[in-house]
Amino acid sequence: MNAPAIEVEFPDLTRWAAGNSGIPYVWRFAAERAGPHVTIQALTHGNEVCGAIANDWLLQENVQPVRGTLTLTFANVDAFRRFDAADPFASRCLDEDFNRLWSADVLDSARHSRDLARARELRPVYDETDYLLDLHSMTDPCPPLALAGRQQKGLELAFALGVPEHIVIDAGHAAGKRLRDYAAFDDPADPRNALLVECGQHWERTAPEVAKQAALRFLRHFGMLDAAFLDAHLDASPRPAQRAIEITDVVTITSDDFVFAQPVAGLTVIAKGGSLLARDGATDVRTPYDDAVLIMPTRRPRKGETAVRIGRFVTY
Ligand SMILES: [Zn+2]
Repeated sequence: MNAPAIEVEFPDLTRWAAGNSGIPYVWRFAAERAGPHVTIQALTHGNEVCGAIANDWLLQENVQPVRGTLTLTFANVDAFRRFDAADPFASRCLDEDFNRLWSADVLDSARHSRDLARARELRPVYDETDYLLDLHSMTDPCPPLALAGRQQKGLELAFALGVPEHIVIDAGHAAGKRLRDYAAFDDPADPRNALLVECGQHWERTAPEVAKQAALRFLRHFGMLDAAFLDAHLDASPRPAQRAIEITDVVTITSDDFVFAQPVAGLTVIAKGGSLLARDGATDVRTPYDDAVLIMPTRRPRKGETAVRIGRFVTY
């Protein structure tokens, strides 16, 4: 399978390298008026450029909070710098996935990797953050998704934004904790909160605007922006009602011979439970129930990796 087209331009981030917070590529702006500390993060994954375009734009616009503190981060910049259009998936990370490191036992361990070093450098930023928006994009084409985590407060925040249309409720990855699930963000008794937005396929033309609009709505929700800035830039056109999908199953590839048995795409719904979804070597993989929703089915099946997540629409 050929790599998808690169439809977006990569911003030159070197002008933001110094930061103004004591940490490279971390920019912080504080209002005189008290308010929450909101962080908008780009480049948790190095090749997911849409968030970098959104934060680059906010910095160029010289965005200032009207209350509280706003932090804009470019996380795995060293991975981003290695982006190569001829091998565009390689720059997701350097040594290991930055988004599987977010538990104290990993962060406090004696283990070393370049991604873990950057995670440790940025950890104080997240420890000081009340509300985090983590901007991502997806390997394969799929409508934008909010990943709300497993707590009710995450779901409420996703609904409060009003976009994207589809909200995914899931517990993350067995391979390690995501930043969106780090510490207080995943504690139901703590008001601090995080939301991850997948803005579409990594390099599709529409993803940066999805990221920008998610950032604007996030900042609006927390009362951080002045009305004139929002009026000028927020897309206030009517949106479809949001729907939540609860992930129930993760299909992990167990052989070198995995193939989907029917055409699949992001958010394909398979009406009949027990339908043949894929063949994994000698094993048949079937849908677990009626109206199973396929989340991010892979186009590049590899043994040991996730083929697809399966969920169902839930109403609240
Ligand atoms: Zn990502």
